[in-house]
Amino acid sequence: MSQKVRVRFAPSPTGPLHIGGLRTALFNYLFAKKHGGDFVLRVEDTDQNRFVDGAEDYIIAALNWSGIPFDEGPGKEGDFGPYRQSERKQLYQAYAQELVEKGKAYYAFDTPEILEHHRKDHESKGKTFIYNWHNRLKLTNSLSLSNEEVRAKIDAGEDYVIRFRSPENEKIVLNDIIRGEIHIDTNVLDDKVLFKSDGMPTYHLANIVDDHLMQITHVIRGEEWLPSLALHTLLYDAFGWEAPAFAHLPLIMKPVGKGKLSKRDGEKGGFPIFPLTWNQSQGYREAGFFPEAVVNFLALLGWNPGTEQEIFTLDELIESFTLERVNKSGARFDPEKNNWYNQQWLQKKSDAELAHLFASELTQKGIATETDYIEKVVSSIKERASFVTDFWELSDYFFQAPSSYNDKAVKKQWKEDTPEIMQQVITFLETLEDFESANIEELVKTWISEQGLSFGKVMPPLRLVIVGDMKGPHLFDIMELIGKNESISRIKTAIDKL
Ligand code: GLU
Repeated sequence: MSQKVRVRFAPSPTGPLHIGGLRTALFNYLFAKKHGGDFVLRVEDTDQNRFVDGAEDYIIAALNWSGIPFDEGPGKEGDFGPYRQSERKQLYQAYAQELVEKGKAYYAFDTPEILEHHRKDHESKGKTFIYNWHNRLKLTNSLSLSNEEVRAKIDAGEDYVIRFRSPENEKIVLNDIIRGEIHIDTNVLDDKVLFKSDGMPTYHLANIVDDHLMQITHVIRGEEWLPSLALHTLLYDAFGWEAPAFAHLPLIMKPVGKGKLSKRDGEKGGFPIFPLTWNQSQGYREAGFFPEAVVNFLALLGWNPGTEQEIFTLDELIESFTLERVNKSGARFDPEKNNWYNQQWLQKKSDAELAHLFASELTQKGIATETDYIEKVVSSIKERASFVTDFWELSDYFFQAPSSYNDKAVKKQWKEDTPEIMQQVITFLETLEDFESANIEELVKTWISEQGLSFGKVMPPLRLVIVGDMKGPHLFDIMELIGKNESISRIKTAIDKL
């Protein structure tokens, strides 16, 4: 590639970024960085009716949180700004006009009422109304009217739109990096509106003009835009511009059943589908996902590295990513797998970082503990955790004595002679000077054999009274951490209570 790679992510600020949108942004980012190119954010806000306040800020915050910031975009002006289409609106009309002059587009005066009438009429006959070559001469436009009539209408201030004049009887070949060649008969295309009566361009015109002016070399976007590819390719031809390369990413499918992933699937399955919380919908960030994990699982949603490797840092993704390895078919969204990715990434975090995150939860619970202690706790339980929010349940007994004991375990482990044995354990523990895990273990085990007791009589009830349950890491590690006094006190409490 001789030309500098430039890609863009071009969301419409009509709401929060869905996880599919974030994946589109990610693939653009990976491709740009792999080729030393630029990743542009362009906000496509020409449809003022669908504009949602706060959506643009949300999109930017989501990209930043994910660790895939844009190089140029709103607030980061480069050489091709402004990057919001609403701030570029004065430039589109001339391009629409240019196509009219070249005979590639035309003025159309049909009112919305007339068009609605045609639509209904067709529907009642079981047909679909398409405005194109087969009927355009019967409709009210600059192809069917004389120049004078057209002038008169425009001068009288009549509303008009500018429509693209789709070619007749042409077989065209579209190219997509992921899907290969796609053959289209232009007769199936309709004459799409390029410029609206409100003085604003439609998505199609603004998108093409901006991709051209912003020197975009590769358009990487969702499969839902594939039906627009024919029009876009024809528009590039009509302007006489070189088209960028196109890649349409596969849809993200529901965890089960048919169809694409929706907000409702998240609600039903109890998993986020937005990167950050939006209104009532919890985001990945707030659910405790690490951005590295989100980026990692999104990358493998529709792309494969061609190896068994599953865990990738962002740099490794940049290194391995190619559009050729993006799949054509839909990618099934697997919330379990997403949790697994978070579990994997959690293990990669340092104990210090995890302890820092956990500490704020502990503070909220009114527990004030040394960071050092929290780090040791985290280190002994993190293996079992997928989220920092799992920590408390896995480690509460490190911070407070059990307030109750698991009933089933009590029935099984707490026998008639257990209080007596536990009393002896206390007496023995009191003699210990060095309360370090390996040392306690060795001495307790020797003591058990000398007393002629079995491990089963001592160890399970001991765990039960220290932890309140049969769970947790190595028991002597727990005892070392909570200390001699606390260990003994917990055994005493249990003898009293049970
Ligand atoms: N504004 C379009 C969207 O909301 C952009 C599609 C494209 O990338 O061409 O997705």
